[in-house]
Amino acid sequence: MSSTVITNIASLVTNDPSHESADSPLGLIQDAAVVIDGDRIAWTGESGNAPAADNRVDVGGRAVIPGFVDSHSHLVFAGDRTQEFNARMSGRSYSAGGIRTTVAATRAATDEELEANLVRYLSEALRQGTTTFETKSGYGLTVEDEARALRIASAHTDEVTYLGAHIVSPDYADDPAGYVALVTGEMLEACAPHARWIDVFCEKGAFDGDQARAVLTAGKRRGLHPRVHANQLSYGPGVQLAVELDAASADHCTHLTDADVDALAQGGTVATLLPGAEFSTRAEWPNARRLLDAGATVALSTDCNPGSSFTSSVPFCIALAVRDMGMTPDEAVWSATAGGARALRRTDVGRLVPGAYADLAVLDAPSHVHLAYRPGVPLVTEVWRHGSRVA
Ligand SMILES: [Zn+2]
Repeated sequence: MSSTVITNIASLVTNDPSHESADSPLGLIQDAAVVIDGDRIAWTGESGNAPAADNRVDVGGRAVIPGFVDSHSHLVFAGDRTQEFNARMSGRSYSAGGIRTTVAATRAATDEELEANLVRYLSEALRQGTTTFETKSGYGLTVEDEARALRIASAHTDEVTYLGAHIVSPDYADDPAGYVALVTGEMLEACAPHARWIDVFCEKGAFDGDQARAVLTAGKRRGLHPRVHANQLSYGPGVQLAVELDAASADHCTHLTDADVDALAQGGTVATLLPGAEFSTRAEWPNARRLLDAGATVALSTDCNPGSSFTSSVPFCIALAVRDMGMTPDEAVWSATAGGARALRRTDVGRLVPGAYADLAVLDAPSHVHLAYRPGVPLVTEVWRHGSRVA
């Protein structure tokens, strides 16, 4: 195992509480160095104090941040929904089937096509600094198609989520209770071996509070841990249910009552905000400031999917969160790294502390603030994952 010192870092984001200051959660170190030993971080600190290492990499006064932890995406799919997006953004009505369009294309695709598509978007995300990815099923909605989506995903990430309860399958349009029975029965049995998490879209037109509870508790009994698509399009029971069932994350959180905000602040469930979805549907932004001021833990993620948020770019989400959701640049970078790790209940990613994975991004900028200050500019110039330079 060889060691490497990355040095001449103008500004290093560690998210290490032992480096935390009163005005930033990022554990910033100026004129810093990082030592990597094998696949892990061995040391961080000021350049002048760096211990010797086998190799030396000089990043020329750039900033270094932990690799992004994208805790919410839907990347096992086929087809796209360009026309639907174009119609929505052109103010025209469009009567295609939304998620059902992607379900039909996904069912028709071969395993090889689905995997090639997944790999394409994962490598696109990696080039933009994302070193940990969660992804979900939810476009198969049959026992075989859901299990196959998870099998394909699990070859590429440990963070795999069973979302058979994305919408009621079109095959069960007249029998939603029958579909919930399938999702909590035979489909769960087929999917659980390939997944870590279980998720449900708790929303009018998808699954109500009782159905969502049935899905999540069945998953828990089978050893899957819950996360919830909650309160995206309207007020509803999703957030409170997520906190009650100790879900790792309640995702979207766009329409929250004071009681919902209190529950998130008191409980162990992270509020994951997905501004790509509001951007792509011209919807109302979630209020990150309100959640942060109440004391909730906030994560930022892409929700990358072909219908409502077709971006794999965490930097884009950071810029939106700063511009439109009341987050400071430091808070947004924390939420996209350490916050994402919290939403996956991980302590070995999302921060550059001794013992954590050596997952980091080098920015062609002197500070992480440039991620919001220079929106749309590809600032990630180098990505390291598990101690190796991968992009
Ligand atoms: Zn989603």
